[in-house]
Amino acid sequence: MPGVHRGSQGHRPGPEPLTRRGCLLTYAMSDAEVIVIGGGIAGASAAWRLAPVARVVVLEREDRCGHHSTGRSAASFTENYGTSIIRRLAIGSRDFLTGPPEGFAEHPLLGPRGMITIAREDQADLIAFELDRARRFVPSVTEIPVDEAVTRVPVLRRDYVARAIIEPDSKDIDVNGLHEGFLRGVRRAGGRIVTGAEVLSIARHGADWEVETPMGRFRAPRLVNAAGAWGDVIARLAGVRPQGLMPMRRTAFNIACPQGMDCRTWPLLNDVGGEFYFKVTGGQIMVSPGDATPSSPMDAWPEEMDIAIGADRLERATTLQVRRVLKAWAGLRTFAPDGSPVVGEAPDAAGFFWLVGQGGYGIKTSPALSRIVAAQVLDRPFPGELAALGLSSGDFAPGRAARAANMPLEMT
Ligand SMILES: Cc1cc2nc3c(=O)[nH]c(=O)nc-3n(C[C@H](O)[C@H](O)[C@H](O)COP(=O)(O)OP(=O)(O)OC[C@H]3O[C@@H](n4cnc5c(N)ncnc54)[C@H](O)[C@@H]3O)c2cc1C
Repeated sequence: MPGVHRGSQGHRPGPEPLTRRGCLLTYAMSDAEVIVIGGGIAGASAAWRLAPVARVVVLEREDRCGHHSTGRSAASFTENYGTSIIRRLAIGSRDFLTGPPEGFAEHPLLGPRGMITIAREDQADLIAFELDRARRFVPSVTEIPVDEAVTRVPVLRRDYVARAIIEPDSKDIDVNGLHEGFLRGVRRAGGRIVTGAEVLSIARHGADWEVETPMGRFRAPRLVNAAGAWGDVIARLAGVRPQGLMPMRRTAFNIACPQGMDCRTWPLLNDVGGEFYFKVTGGQIMVSPGDATPSSPMDAWPEEMDIAIGADRLERATTLQVRRVLKAWAGLRTFAPDGSPVVGEAPDAAGFFWLVGQGGYGIKTSPALSRIVAAQVLDRPFPGELAALGLSSGDFAPGRAARAANMPLEMT
C-alpha cells in the first residue's frame, strides 16, 4: 500500500482498504499501543524510543517525513543558546549525538564547526551577560580578541565588532542522518510509519483514542502529539486544552562563498542580539536575519522583506555582498508561552501526551526530549541522567504553560 512502510520484523499487517466512497478510501481499524502524530524529528525520535517495547504507528500528513520544520533547520548543535532548560537538554543530548547506538547512522551525526558570537560597542553589556550565562553551562566558552575573530572569519569588518566570544565545541548536525536513523530504527523494531495520513478527527472510545486519517482509522490507548506547529490543532481535535503554542516564522537564504576564499572551516557567526547569523553549509553561506514573525501553522515561505533585512545586516557586519540569493526558505519555530518545551501527559486527558514547543532547538534536543516523553508514555521514572543535569518532569509539565504566561521569553 503506498505510503505505508512496514518494519522488517513487522508484527502487524497495515490497514486494508475496504470500500471506496467518492474519492475517500475507508480502511479497517488498525490497533496499536501508541499512536504518534507527526513524523518530524520529534515524532520520529519518540517512536524510536517506544517501538522496541510497544506497537507504535507514526501518522504523518505529508508524503514524506521532515517536510516542515525538521527539514528547514540550520543544523546547528550548541549548548549555549536558549533557556536554561534548553541548554541542559542540549548537554543531555550530546552523548547520543556523539556516539549513537551501533548501526544507527552511516556517518558521524556531529561535524566540526564552532560558534563565534559577536557584539558591537552598543551591545557590550549584552555580551558580558551572555558570556557569564554561557560559562555557567559550558566552561569552554571564552572571550577571544576581536582580531582573532576576524582571522577566523576574514569577511568580518574589524570596525563593526567590539567583543567576541567563542564556543569551540559547537557542532554541525547531520539532520537527515539523525532523522533517518530514528525512522529506520522504528521500522526495524516493527513500528509503522504511515505517510499521507493527515489526522482528521480524534475520538475517545473507552480507554482508547481513535484517530481517523485518509489512510485508515487507528486505535490505541496512548497518543503522542508531536505535530509541531499544529500541536494545538491536534489538541482541539481531541478535545484537549491547548497550550497556547506560538509558531514563529524564521527565514534563511544561501549565497555563494566569496571567490578565492576557503570558507569551509569558518565557525558559525552569530550576532549577540539575535539580529543575524551565518554559517557555511554545502559550500554555500547560509544567512538568517534571526526573524521570529508570529504565524499560523502552515507551510511557511520566505518573505522578500526578511531576506532584504538579512542581507542588509550581513553587509553591515561583513564584506560579504548579497548579489544573488541561490536558495531561500522559511520554517516555523514553535514556542510555548514560557519558551520551553511541553512534554508529558495532558492533565485533562489520560493517555494524551504532549511533545511540542521545541522552538529553535528541536533537532539538537531530540535525544533528550524523546527519552522524557518515552518514560512518561511507559510510566517510568524521569531519566536519571537528565535529572542529574537539574531537569525534572515539572519543567515540561503541560499544565505549567498557562501559569508561566508572564515569564520572560528567551527565544533568541
Ligand atoms: C530556520 C530554522 C532554523 C533552525 N535551526 C535549528 C538548529 O540549528 N538546531 C536545532 O536544534 N533546531 C533548529 N530549528 C528548530 C527545529 O527545526 C524544530 O524545533 C524541529 O524541527 C521541530 O520538530 P517537530 O518534529 O516538532 O516539527 P515538524 O518537523 O514540523 O514536524 C511536525 C509534523 O507533524 C505533521 N502534522 C501536523 N499536523 C498533522 C496532522 N493533522 N496529521 C498528521 N501529521 C501532522 C507535519 O506534517 C509535520 O511533518 C530551526 C528551525 C528553523 C525554522
